[in-house]
Amino acid sequence: MTQTIAFIGLGNMGGGMAANLLKNGHAVHAFDLSDDALARAQAHGAIPADSAAQAVAGADAIVTMLPAGKHVEGVYGGDVFGAAKPGALFLDCSTIDVGTARRVIDAATARGFDMVDAPVSGGIAAANGGTLTFMVGGTDAAFDRAKPILSAMGKAVIHAGGPGNGQAAKICNNMLLGATMVATCEAFAMAKKLGLDPQTFYDISSVSSGQSWSMTSYCPVPGVGPQSPSDNGYQGGFAVGLMLKDLKLATEAAAAVNAAVPMGNAAAALYQLLVNQGEAARDFSLMIEMLEGK
Ligand code: NAD
Repeated sequence: MTQTIAFIGLGNMGGGMAANLLKNGHAVHAFDLSDDALARAQAHGAIPADSAAQAVAGADAIVTMLPAGKHVEGVYGGDVFGAAKPGALFLDCSTIDVGTARRVIDAATARGFDMVDAPVSGGIAAANGGTLTFMVGGTDAAFDRAKPILSAMGKAVIHAGGPGNGQAAKICNNMLLGATMVATCEAFAMAKKLGLDPQTFYDISSVSSGQSWSMTSYCPVPGVGPQSPSDNGYQGGFAVGLMLKDLKLATEAAAAVNAAVPMGNAAAALYQLLVNQGEAARDFSLMIEMLEGK
């Protein structure tokens, strides 16, 4: 069933996601504070709006893909709920803290709307290609309504439980990713110092117990393993700054529930050092160069 969907936040990720909704036959009413982002969405066939409220008016569903919790709280604290038609479904796909996600969903519920938090795994290429994984928090009814819309933008849509659980899954996953990337980088750096050829170490470890996604799908060593950002000067991929953002969300969430996350804390400190070196924009597998002292 094709629907009219308001899309707020058409940046690196949202631009491709909205284009995939259009490809699947949905009508998209777009709003972004950036005129450039809005113009790119219009070029894909979206109808530009002058405000979030104007985009939302008449929409069956509203998707937000914003930088951080304060932007999400800003948009939902405005007049979007007041502008939405009764029965509209809200989906926030931004990566934000669990507390903000739950507060915004509570506000939607109090106004009689279904809403899910649905953060994504996969970067800009997956957003453009429609191959994102969505981790969804919300009631069964809200999830059932959200699934067909999210399926138009991704390859997997998984119900993680009640409101906020999508964000919980996302930050636990990315904390694991940050820690395994650091561990993979330090193992390659040490192997080299011990006289092991990186390709030989890959051939051994990729079929041994040290294997991980960071090694076999995203090897930080140029020329080793399948094509990855390390083969392209650590350009593209998942930015160091975004990894640090997610690790901070994870370690703050851990502190709030008294969870011990020594590896997550170590990864956060190391990614902070890379950001301090001015490397926020390059891919997070760049960690290997810092550990090699380059
Ligand atoms: P981005 O900065 O490229 O895009 C965000 C867009 O939101 C911008 O175009 C900005 O102008 C717009 N915006 C900000 N405040 C707004 C407001 N009040 N009203 C309307 N528009 C507003 O960010 P991105 O890379 O697209 O990331 C979006 C979200 O996806 C973030 O939460 C990020 O953590 C998450 N994410 C990103 C990646 C990635 O690889 N880029 C991967 C997974 C998840």
